[in-house]
Amino acid sequence: MLEVTKSVEWDMGHRIPNHDGQCQYPHGHRYRLEVTLSGASVTIKDASDEGMVIDFVAFKKILREKIHNILDHRFLAYEGDKLLKEAFRGTLEKELKILFVPFIPTSENLVTWCYKELRSEFSQNLRFTRLRLYETPTSFCDYLPE
Ligand SMILES: [Zn+2]
Repeated sequence: MLEVTKSVEWDMGHRIPNHDGQCQYPHGHRYRLEVTLSGASVTIKDASDEGMVIDFVAFKKILREKIHNILDHRFLAYEGDKLLKEAFRGTLEKELKILFVPFIPTSENLVTWCYKELRSEFSQNLRFTRLRLYETPTSFCDYLPE
């Protein structure tokens, strides 16, 4: 079995509304997501991806379109966050591109969301081994699909 990993990075703001420390205040991170896929390499003679589990160019394109381009330079807000809903409602929400989501934007919830966004984008022959989301250079969360 072979494993291949591609990463993508983006800048994003968030806050953890119920947190009893600094994370309750709006702030940002440089996020890094590493996606590891496993599978056999392509054996189709003369195919562009012959000898590859997945073409890294195709892998990168999916991560850019489904993760980076949605989240980069956005503020991710929990739709149950009453303070942010009040502050960013109406046209201000659109102008500032606040992205409201149905979950508290922790690393754990965000990496799970990333998996759901990505799982149907790859060949059925590939299996997700792990998604690792770094919120800081020293803090990360792993999502290990069943
Ligand atoms: Zn944070």
